[in-house]
Amino acid sequence: MTENLMDKVVSLCKRRGFIFQSSEIYGGLANTWDYGPYGVELKNNLKRAWWKSNVYERNDILGMDSAILMHPMTWEASGHVHNFFDLKSDCKNCKRRFKSADLKDKAHCPECSGELTESRPFNLMFKTHQGPVEDTSNIIYIRPETAQGMFVNFLNILDSRHPKLPFGLAQIGKSFRNEITPGNFTFRTREFEQMEIEYFVRPADADRALNEWIEYRFNWYLTLGMKSENLRKRQHGKDELAHYAHACMDVEYNFPFGWSELEGIANRADFDLKQHSQYSGKELQYFDDATKEKFFPYIIEPSGGVDRAVLAFLVDAYHEEKVRDDLRVVLKIHKDLAPTKVAVLPLLRNRPEITELANKISRDLKKSFVTVYDDTGSIGKLYRRQDEVGTLYCVTVDVQTLEDKQVTVRSRDTMLQERISVDRLKEYLAKQLN
Ligand code: ATP
Repeated sequence: MTENLMDKVVSLCKRRGFIFQSSEIYGGLANTWDYGPYGVELKNNLKRAWWKSNVYERNDILGMDSAILMHPMTWEASGHVHNFFDLKSDCKNCKRRFKSADLKDKAHCPECSGELTESRPFNLMFKTHQGPVEDTSNIIYIRPETAQGMFVNFLNILDSRHPKLPFGLAQIGKSFRNEITPGNFTFRTREFEQMEIEYFVRPADADRALNEWIEYRFNWYLTLGMKSENLRKRQHGKDELAHYAHACMDVEYNFPFGWSELEGIANRADFDLKQHSQYSGKELQYFDDATKEKFFPYIIEPSGGVDRAVLAFLVDAYHEEKVRDDLRVVLKIHKDLAPTKVAVLPLLRNRPEITELANKISRDLKKSFVTVYDDTGSIGKLYRRQDEVGTLYCVTVDVQTLEDKQVTVRSRDTMLQERISVDRLKEYLAKQLN
């Protein structure tokens, strides 16, 4: 099962409308993906769950949404212009490009055995020009992380909201990296979404805050139903750390292609604010009213990927079971993440009284839950379709409903069916779903 689990998930994503290859009618743009009707719901639910846990349920975090384009000095100050690169080698024969770190034999191409160039640094930032003229004075970068948008707004936040330490900023947004070796479906792409928190603390509190954030973020995945055996923490070795970082812990998921990073939680010390202070000439120290001290706070940064988390939850929830002689594929995904909560299905699609009533029930339920109506197949087929996309409850309207005003409610996970009166349907579903 794990061997081809990835293929099964990729195929389900396409078949049912979660994730499609970008620009497919033109042959596709490699390693770029579009989220379809179910995918966008899942992704939005995941982002909503993150925002709720990190912004709404805490007193110490404020939300933000900064622009993708930023002043070019930002990337000088952050170190990205000079340090954000991977080493790569090109094959002189087949022209393929490799990340040097992935090469066992540094001299020969793993594909055609051709001679490889020396490894050279390759900056991962996308670069373009702002405005109609293309010259070096108007070079602009497409952000490779959302973090810098929060650092450069530190002063605005202090002046407008007057938060006291410790406090954090949170944002979700697109980032772009010209990765040398993208791959593994949506795991590593050149355009992706990040969910990042910058948490400002007194330097003396940084170690404790780092440990608290590691636990808080690790548990978030578990709370949303991720299997604990598929999740682990991995401490960065000294050689892996960015030069300014004091410590970093990765949260890793056991993907079919191996344990890989979902999120990194780092102690960035006072590097970012110091750099921006120096490059901008603005005072970015924090003034403590009580002690009259002025200092650069340390920053704890939990930084995760939306697309990687979506992929991990899809893989984790994919489930196959034998029901009688059939194979049932179910996406056993947490109720808060499930793209649709309820499906209303008429048992007989050629009976207008039934389809009309089912339609009416679905329109009413839509006001409270994400609900779909489907009358395009036999009931067995409709159930199968809903199981595959993780719909939690199927409501079936049949001939008897016309007389006794009751519907059959079937649970995705137990497959148990209950007759519920239409009057009580909303209340019943609310109890299960909220
Ligand atoms: P990796 O080592 O996998 O390249 P990273 O350590 O460079 O990742 P960070 O800079 O810490 O990644 O970014 C934070 C998070 O953003 C990652 O944990 C990941 O979830 C997500 N992310 C980073 N790069 C990509 C990418 N190319 N595609 C999808 N998600 C990404």
